Amino acid sequence: MSTSYDHVIVGGGMTADAAAKAIHETTPEATILIVSADVDAPYTRPALSKKLWIDPDYTPADNDLGTVEASGAELRLGTMVESIDREARTVTTSDGDTVGYGRLLLATGGSPTALDLPDDDRVVYFRTAADYRRLRELSGDGRHVAVVGGSYIGTEIAAALARNDTRVTLVFPDDVLGGSIFPAPIAATFEKAFEEARVDLARGRRVESGTADDAGVHLVLDDGSTLDADAVVVGLGISPDDSLAAEAGLDTDDGVVVDEGLRTSDPNVFAAGDVADYPDAILGRRRVEHVDNAKSQGAAVGRIMAGSDEVYDHTPYYYSKVFDISYEAVGTLDASLETVLDDKGEGRAVAYYLGEDGVEGVLLWNVEGARDAAREVVRECTPGDVELAGRI
Ligand SMILES: Cc1cc2nc3c(=O)[nH]c(=O)nc-3n(C[C@H](O)[C@H](O)[C@H](O)COP(=O)(O)OP(=O)(O)OC[C@H]3O[C@@H](n4cnc5c(N)ncnc54)[C@H](O)[C@@H]3O)c2cc1C
Repeated sequence: MSTSYDHVIVGGGMTADAAAKAIHETTPEATILIVSADVDAPYTRPALSKKLWIDPDYTPADNDLGTVEASGAELRLGTMVESIDREARTVTTSDGDTVGYGRLLLATGGSPTALDLPDDDRVVYFRTAADYRRLRELSGDGRHVAVVGGSYIGTEIAAALARNDTRVTLVFPDDVLGGSIFPAPIAATFEKAFEEARVDLARGRRVESGTADDAGVHLVLDDGSTLDADAVVVGLGISPDDSLAAEAGLDTDDGVVVDEGLRTSDPNVFAAGDVADYPDAILGRRRVEHVDNAKSQGAAVGRIMAGSDEVYDHTPYYYSKVFDISYEAVGTLDASLETVLDDKGEGRAVAYYLGEDGVEGVLLWNVEGARDAAREVVRECTPGDVELAGRI
């Protein structure tokens, strides 16, 4: 074995960044190693589909989180952790090194869902800063980019490209953009913003396969029609990268299972961020793929690894921004649930999603400063509550 560290962090995303900084703040003398498959040091991931496209003064250099400077961690980029020996408390890396740990954090996030498309530079499964750089090269100058997926990644990318001299076709399965998550009047407003920005909408369609040649990328949709574009961006969600944990014999269930102290079934191994299946204090056990969770859970796990006996009791919110629309949410947004829509006027609204146990989610549509109130409604409102409008 070449080296040992007090803390080894697997993954170089926002969770890893927050954890390393919290460990250093709590125990400045502790040694930390971050092993990341990414080629870039940790950066703000949400900016890849928003701020970097719409704020000309914000550069990729501004997007760097300054992890090493702030935490004193050693950072190994472009390197995978390939296995864990829990008995010996070591990990083995793709460059053949074996590294010892006192405590180990799995912050491996997830990998984008792939389609049956050729392995081609013009097919981008959008997740990393390298994907952002590639899409910059493939877009602009009036080129045509097909964006696949109508959830937040697809819609943010479509909006970003439309504002950057790119012809965009957005392919999504809903009949109305956002129709599976928003109440109908909100989905109609959402879709209209894309139409006004001249985004072509391929409604009710899925991509089945595709080919690529000198002329571009050619997608075959599920109605048999074809869509030709200069490039295609896919944003269809992720699968958690939990195989390292599973192969090490840790409990996994569509993610690495942790307790309220973010510990796995091995007390020296922790997991946090997109990969962690944790017991949320309000919403119950779940895995959350949002940045508030990555930052707050990352910081909490760092403090816990450094000796704190706290429990993680923060219920994360989620946000997205397209064109002039900003929305935030707590809990589940599912338009198949009964919804109560409280129209606040001037393009602002709150929607409550009702499930069997009461309010399961709250959507804050162009409404700021109400996340805590939304958490309270989800925590407190039982199925009998009928007076929801006006609660926020
Ligand atoms: C384009 C985009 C926009 C987003 N916008 C928003 C938004 O507006 N609002 C919001 O709430 N959320 C947003 N999110 C989600 C949010 O960014 C993520 O929830 C968060 O960044 C997850 O952080 P993480 O560190 O847990 O996982 P990741 O960011 O996935 O990081 C995991 C890291 O682990 C590395 N890794 C994996 N396996 C290994 C291994 N075996 N060895 C070494 N390294 C490994 C990966 O290379 C990566 O560096 C967005 C996500 C994307 C992709």
